Amino acid sequence: MKAEMDREELLAWLRADDPIRLEALWRHADHVRQRCVGDAVHLRGLIEISNYCRRQCAYCGLRAGNRTLKRYRLCAEEIMAAAREVAAIGYGTVVLQGGEDPAIETGWIARLVRQIKAETPLAVTLSLGERDTAELAAWRAAGADRYLLRFETSDPALYQSIHPGLNGIPVHRIDLLAQIRALGYEVGSGIMVGLPGQTYASVAWDLLLFRELDLDMIGIGPFIAHPMTPLGARSGEQAVTGNEQVPNTVQMASTVVALARILCPQANIPSTTAMATLNPRQGCQLALERGANVVMPNFTPWIYRQLYEIYPSKGIPDSSADSICGRLENQLTGMGRRIGRGPGGRIGRWIGSKPEFEIYENVGYA
Ligand code: SF4
Repeated sequence: MKAEMDREELLAWLRADDPIRLEALWRHADHVRQRCVGDAVHLRGLIEISNYCRRQCAYCGLRAGNRTLKRYRLCAEEIMAAAREVAAIGYGTVVLQGGEDPAIETGWIARLVRQIKAETPLAVTLSLGERDTAELAAWRAAGADRYLLRFETSDPALYQSIHPGLNGIPVHRIDLLAQIRALGYEVGSGIMVGLPGQTYASVAWDLLLFRELDLDMIGIGPFIAHPMTPLGARSGEQAVTGNEQVPNTVQMASTVVALARILCPQANIPSTTAMATLNPRQGCQLALERGANVVMPNFTPWIYRQLYEIYPSKGIPDSSADSICGRLENQLTGMGRRIGRGPGGRIGRWIGSKPEFEIYENVGYA
């Protein structure tokens, strides 16, 4: 098993159901993770800044058409308070995530990024959907370090069916990812595993695209539909005939995580919230044991957290940053892992104009 795996080899692994073979794959991915990015698990403090969204994704509870959801938008003071909490607890990165909220202004985000960079040592990751180049450039100029935008699936027809274009105009996320890279961001993307209509062949292409895009961060989670969405209403349907429909299970998603680790050995790969939602007891740990090296604990103020309902029962119902940190530290120690220090950027690639650097631990921006 090598980073040069081809499509046929990937397909064979994706279709594998022999537990002994799968165990060997997961062990190998864990070994690659250990050798290439080490035992540190980088923690990113997630702040969900707005649940308004102008899009109509067919699976997501934040879609504009979901009139049952109470909407919120954090003010700058609430975001800064949460960011200070992330810094105080010793994390190296804050992630500002939101729907495509038209009321979020370019200058407002730029000022927030500047303030976070001025007051804390945090790296700033943005995940605010499809934005135009001028906005992305302004945020990068303000100091944002990373941008996350999942392409969700490399199958164009499947993508269009779950993510309709605004006013009928599709945006090609792959092109947008290239623009984000050109602006000097670290680039994150990823997919959902088990979308209705998603075949093993399609996921094999997704994996090859991760490698081709040379992603710095790769998010992989099992597909979960919100019930108040078109796909939620159709849950349980078999979308692909025969045995080619990819299941939306933790096992399948963690196999994709393992293959992504082998193909992209130096990428930062989170253990996603969707894993922990499908398997609250073991989902997070299983991903960390099968190639993942990042966890994103939620620092959204508690009163808003349950309203960021991409799908129901999202995440771990815990309100205190101290208890999140204590629980994770115990869990990681039990796994022979430790909490990563510093911003935990992509190994071998400095953010912005800094020189290439090969050491992955304790990397600071100073
Ligand atoms: S997936 Fe993202 S863009 Fe689509 S409706 Fe949900 S928040 Fe909006």
